[in-house]
Amino acid sequence: LARARISQCSGPGATSDGHHVLLLANIGNAADAELAGAADVEGVGLFRTEFLHLSATQAPTVEEQAAEYVRVLTPFGDRPVTVRTLDAGADKPLAFADLGPEPNPALGRRGLRLMVEREDLLDDQLTALARAAAETGALVKVMAPMVSTAREADWFTRRAHAAGLPVAGVMIEVPAAALRAHHVLRVTDFASLGTNDLAQYTMAADRMVGELSALLDPWQPAVLDMVAAACEGGSATGKAVGVCGESAGDPLMALVLTGLGVNSLSMSVQRVPMVRWALSQHTAQECVQLAVAARSADSAEAALEAVRSTASTEL
Ligand code: PEP
Ligand code: MG
Repeated sequence: LARARISQCSGPGATSDGHHVLLLANIGNAADAELAGAADVEGVGLFRTEFLHLSATQAPTVEEQAAEYVRVLTPFGDRPVTVRTLDAGADKPLAFADLGPEPNPALGRRGLRLMVEREDLLDDQLTALARAAAETGALVKVMAPMVSTAREADWFTRRAHAAGLPVAGVMIEVPAAALRAHHVLRVTDFASLGTNDLAQYTMAADRMVGELSALLDPWQPAVLDMVAAACEGGSATGKAVGVCGESAGDPLMALVLTGLGVNSLSMSVQRVPMVRWALSQHTAQECVQLAVAARSADSAEAALEAVRSTASTEL
């Protein structure tokens, strides 16, 4: 019965009292885009472009990238597609962007830091994206990974605008950026929380080390505090703050994130129906109360239990 009701629930994400939360897809290539484009989602919240090049030995040309982006953008028509620029390094190494071994790759020259050193790679990608956007008429939003400071956010945003991409934002996945989200958001157009890395850096626990999974749990109250800080920056500046880490696809966590103030949730497309259903069963105020309960807990287990015991029993 619950399954039938979940599949009947469709359309834009919203709480039972009509507070809108965009439900978006995470994708990694044109095949994912086909699937997600045919699904009931409002667009893409995270296109991990580095996934296209994990086995490449040479940097892709502008033409190759533009052709691939056209294939990815086309299935979405006028729905927005958020494209992350190359997030190379650490858990996602790219041979053509390798700057050599480092003692702590997760804390090293990765993500936007790497693109600052390889401006040629970033500029080629931005050029290709602008071309694909012009060719398809798609609404492309571009965002940078691993941003730590407002200065980095400003640098990236200006560069993307100059390349002909009018909507440019940053990922918030480093505690420094979460705590200073107000300053970061003043110089960029939007932010999206990467809760996978935000958990890694908040808890100082390497996401590649399976034994540390309990520390990497996004229910850790410290991680929720970081999300709350980022959302405060969003409301202070009037800029959108979403979530595109795996946690967005957990229905109970989606309620908490909504209560904390995020306005979009991006996830594997299969997770969308459950999250849509969960939202439809709660008011915005109930989500706020669930978020307060989670942040009041003294452990990840207690936070989850507090929310599970209060949320709709059918979840
Ligand atoms: C994240 O860090 O939460 C994120 C969405 O990016 P990735 O998992 O690709 O690092
Ligand atoms: Mg990340």
